[in-house]
Amino acid sequence: MRASAGARIRSAALRHNLAEIRRHAPGHLLMAVVKADAYGHGLVESARALDGADAFAVARVEEAMALRAAGLMQRVVLLEGVFGSDDLSLAARERFDIVVHSEEQIAALADASLPRQVDVWLKLDTGMHRLGIEPAELPAAAAALGQSAAVGRLRLMTHFAQAEARDDPMTVAQIGLLAASAEAFDGAVTLANSAAVLAWRRELESLAQRPREHGEHWIRPGIALYGISPFPDRTGPELGLRPVMDFHTVLIAVKTVRAGERIGYGGRFLAETDMRVGVAAAGYGDGYPWSMPDGTPVLVRGRRAPLAGRVSMDMITIDLSAVPEARTGDEVLLWGEGLPAEEIAAAAGTIPYELVCRVSRRVPRTRG
Ligand SMILES: *Cc1c(COP(=O)(O)O)cnc(C)c1O
Repeated sequence: MRASAGARIRSAALRHNLAEIRRHAPGHLLMAVVKADAYGHGLVESARALDGADAFAVARVEEAMALRAAGLMQRVVLLEGVFGSDDLSLAARERFDIVVHSEEQIAALADASLPRQVDVWLKLDTGMHRLGIEPAELPAAAAALGQSAAVGRLRLMTHFAQAEARDDPMTVAQIGLLAASAEAFDGAVTLANSAAVLAWRRELESLAQRPREHGEHWIRPGIALYGISPFPDRTGPELGLRPVMDFHTVLIAVKTVRAGERIGYGGRFLAETDMRVGVAAAGYGDGYPWSMPDGTPVLVRGRRAPLAGRVSMDMITIDLSAVPEARTGDEVLLWGEGLPAEEIAAAAGTIPYELVCRVSRRVPRTRG
């Protein structure tokens, strides 16, 4: 065993979560969101484990190219679309679907001459006010794209701003706007991220009741595939999901610190009694946030032990009072099975999405 941090990735858990999410959205097709290196889980290997998905979705052209380079030939959707004619040609050549969300992108497609037609997801801004055109602009945009020789299939898309808020009227309003727009539109639609799939099933199903010949309905889960909850008040396992990543490391020293002494940079932690302290090989250089407060749990020999002292670049210090038999060489779990990333993210004042995305490049991902 190497005395450094690693991330164990469970392919079986990825497949379990994919099946579980499908169960929540019968009749829908599924694009697996694998942007940002599959939320830190490793793009290509995660996509291979998720090859039962109907398509992959990524944020950047480079991510889509990495999938093709690995021999993954499924449909790939570029969620931010493309900028510039080179990437547009590339998308056509590699058969990437592109999202179109702006006047500039519509104009570029109208003028483009491409090696083959590109399939387009026209994005509507139904209230998030990040990307997308206004619903009122849909007829003109659809007409312009419909006339372009560069455009193959035209489909409709929107994105939710707060689907994780189960009793907020915003999501219903967004679904309503999309539904009204879809009425006069022949083509597939996609709207649901993880939170919407898990919390707004009835509303999505009633939208999906529109006649089949108008096109398929697609869901777009990301975080739930990795076994992590999109909701602030529930964990993945509480939703029937299995955590995919174990972020782990090793105790590289165990020592006694005397009462009255301080531990680590800035002397943040004061030992009130004599105590056993473990030093584990993981720090903010590995993606374990510097902002972690004293008391944040790790697991040693299956038991919780609290962080004691500031996180260093390559190390953390742990109060081992609750695990007196702990020894140098023991594994330390930073988050994963038995220690939800959701809980650790909350301790650090962030969201679990950011935690897993931030696991740094020097951390080897192993698959099991
Ligand atoms: C990231 C992303 C998703 C997936 O969201 P999750 O909350 O991770 O399920 C879906 N759609 C778009 C447009 C996204 O950017």
